[in-house]
Amino acid sequence: MCGIVGYVGHQAALPVVVEALRRMEYRGYDSSGVAVLDGAGATRVEKKEGKLANLEAALDAAGRGSFAGTTGIGHTRWATHGRPSDRNAHPHVSGEVAIVHNGIIENFAPLRHELEAAGVDLVSDTDSEVAAHLLARAMDDGPTAGDFVASCRAVLNRLEGAFTLVFSHADHPDTLVAARRSTPLVLGVGEDEMFLGSDVAAFIDHTRDAVELGQDTVVVMRADGYEITDFAGEPAEGRPFRIDWDLEAAEKGGYDFFMLKEIAEQPDAVADTLLGHFHDGRIVLDEQRISDQELRDVDKVFIVACGSAYHSGLVAKYAIEHWTRLPCEVEIASEFRYRDPVLDRSTLVVAISQSGETADTLEAVRHAKSQKARVLAVCNTNGSQIPRESDAVLYTHAGPEIGVASTKAYLAQITANYLVGLALAQARGTKYPDEVASEFRQLEKMPELIQRVVDSLEPVRAIARELADSKSVLFLGRHVGYPTALEGALKLKELAYMHAEGFPAGELKHGPIALIEDGLPVFVVMPPIEGRGVLHSKLVSNIQEIKARGARTIVIAEEGDDVVRPLSDYFIPIPTSTTLLQPLLATIPYQAFAAEVAAARGYDVDKPRNLAKSVTVE
Ligand code: GLU
Repeated sequence: MCGIVGYVGHQAALPVVVEALRRMEYRGYDSSGVAVLDGAGATRVEKKEGKLANLEAALDAAGRGSFAGTTGIGHTRWATHGRPSDRNAHPHVSGEVAIVHNGIIENFAPLRHELEAAGVDLVSDTDSEVAAHLLARAMDDGPTAGDFVASCRAVLNRLEGAFTLVFSHADHPDTLVAARRSTPLVLGVGEDEMFLGSDVAAFIDHTRDAVELGQDTVVVMRADGYEITDFAGEPAEGRPFRIDWDLEAAEKGGYDFFMLKEIAEQPDAVADTLLGHFHDGRIVLDEQRISDQELRDVDKVFIVACGSAYHSGLVAKYAIEHWTRLPCEVEIASEFRYRDPVLDRSTLVVAISQSGETADTLEAVRHAKSQKARVLAVCNTNGSQIPRESDAVLYTHAGPEIGVASTKAYLAQITANYLVGLALAQARGTKYPDEVASEFRQLEKMPELIQRVVDSLEPVRAIARELADSKSVLFLGRHVGYPTALEGALKLKELAYMHAEGFPAGELKHGPIALIEDGLPVFVVMPPIEGRGVLHSKLVSNIQEIKARGARTIVIAEEGDDVVRPLSDYFIPIPTSTTLLQPLLATIPYQAFAAEVAAARGYDVDKPRNLAKSVTVE
């Protein structure tokens, strides 16, 4: 996730590109950079770590006038490979070539080795830089030498993973070549000028005519036109459309709130988190500073986290214990160090934090390390403090999350936690390699199922509008449905300021059932019918119990669950999945419900009162 821009036209490129970057900054702000082609065979590049303001200061210092030229590219980075720094900022340059990249080039490691073996000096830690060198070499030598477009295609055909790339070459200053595979790119069509952007906000000031580029397409653009092909060079179609949003809506992709956009981005967040983590039949972490032997020697797992991340840890406990046969405890990070947990060098502490800066989690990490435990971080922010202080890291690739209430980062955390569980099972040999591979394949199917849930949320919103005046809402579940209930309740509390509680459904009769009264809305997540037969029938009984006391039941269950449908006042179908993976689906209606109740009550969905996105105090 990052912001990419490109411009070819008759205006000075620098101001157009910088303004577009300003509009893209919500997509990533680890660094930003620009390259402007002067038309006489030179490319001028400036790039700086941190927010766009740093780049602007560097441009001022260098003298903006020195960036003359009407073709330019720009990038705001959300780091995935290599920490935020000037060196890792885009554009990446090789000879006359400059490129910007969004996404992950999964096979960058062998390509990097190949380039190094050929004597190329790589200067960054990114996966992206290989694309610049490959293009420079293809232009210099071999079957596509001298042919810019053919050379770009030759490079693209060597890349695996998800990427949007924009290529420039100083000797071809009137042309930009861009391509997309599984990451966004939109073309803006002006009068004698063309624009590229990760979304339309990049160029909405200049033109309202846009073209959506299909999967695996290449666009060659010049000031007076463009041509779309597939990676083989065969003609391909784009979808022209007219932008009728205002700028603010454009930044939110047409949604009323960032949170709604982020809910819709969840298929990508999960798919991107899986990218690059399964190589040669093995799960791989992003950073590992502990030996395989040390991983094998782990005899206990603690998960420490706060808020939604804590709920993702509760989900993971079921998978980790099942797959690894290791005891796994999940702890609220702010409580962890005060109760003197039993830790030693064979304890693995998994610290989960979207920002990687959560103070409570960071202190729990420090305490664990002081007791010689090993720490593995699951974070969404490359190079942040918690990963830096950890022995191993697995990054979630949800992209920046602007809505304060976590949605896509939460699903990405669940996904990453499962990868941690599989990595441990693989190290300990509690699962055969083919079993690990088969679990991974199941995970790979989830983005498509998540998309189906995301596409069918309107009935949930209608229920939310109907129940928006409720005083209190309860959430029930068993097994992984229990943490899902907690997450549903948390979303409603933080967004709609409504009293909400999540309970294990079996615990209800030990006290909370006293809360049930006529008309009280109670959400229940049903486990898959096949997966855990006994759990299903127990939950059916729990629903009977609460219905008998007047509750209004809102049931999230498999599409074909005809047993529970007659017991549901409202029935929310979700696709069939395995039991362990079901939270990746069942959580989504809860997110949409809470956002809609909040909106119906007139609250700011993106900025709930009293909360902050990253909590850096204890
Ligand atoms: N993977 C690339 C990097 O870490 C691109 C990240 C992005 O999409 O901003 O630099």
